[in-house]
Amino acid sequence: MEQPKQEEEYGYDLFPGRNTGQHKGRSFTESLLTFNHKCQVMLQLATETSPYAKLLLSAMKSSGCKVFKERHFSCEDCDGTVSGGFDADSSQIVLCQNNIHQQSHMNRVVTHELIHAFDHCRAHVDWFNNLKHLACSEIRAANLSGDCSFQTEFSRFNFGLKQHQQACVRGRALRSILAVRKINREEAEKIVDEVFDTCFNDHAPFGRIPHDKKDAGFAGRDYENRGRYYANL
Ligand SMILES: [Zn+2]
Repeated sequence: MEQPKQEEEYGYDLFPGRNTGQHKGRSFTESLLTFNHKCQVMLQLATETSPYAKLLLSAMKSSGCKVFKERHFSCEDCDGTVSGGFDADSSQIVLCQNNIHQQSHMNRVVTHELIHAFDHCRAHVDWFNNLKHLACSEIRAANLSGDCSFQTEFSRFNFGLKQHQQACVRGRALRSILAVRKINREEAEKIVDEVFDTCFNDHAPFGRIPHDKKDAGFAGRDYENRGRYYANL
């Protein structure tokens, strides 16, 4: 279990067209290689062991968007405290190797970004011109990735689990949007609130809000069995 303080430092980013030629070089190639290698290993583990990631990868495949690790993931150095991003232009998930140090963090970043990738695959998302599309995907990513299941007992105690989840998802979606778009908080709040109910209640492909790994595992089992009812008729 990670510290709540670290939780607050997580940042996500939908890159507004990242410039692949401009990644900051580290002065020591060796340390870069070490970070990169560690990132690759953690990514591999996330795709093989996280029930969230496994379900999403399976859903992507069923939707005709099979994910190839070499092609669709990129471990890179990023600015600030950003953990990862989805680059819609190249359909690539960026993992910030300099900011992800723990497996549990990696699992959550991979899950969060795979939800954006899933939305990108199933819908014609206009990430750059339609802020409602962006807001909707951020709401879903915060709601379904477990990002909001790691909060302090204190806030659950105060608001109850359901209200806590909603408040947390709303706050995270707002922060994500403000991090990547030049709009003010009021505008962002208006957009998030307009689409909130619809997108908060859209649990695809999980079929529920997976509050922990076990939940996500059950969701995965249901997902794999989804055709069985019809097949048995
Ligand atoms: Zn996001």
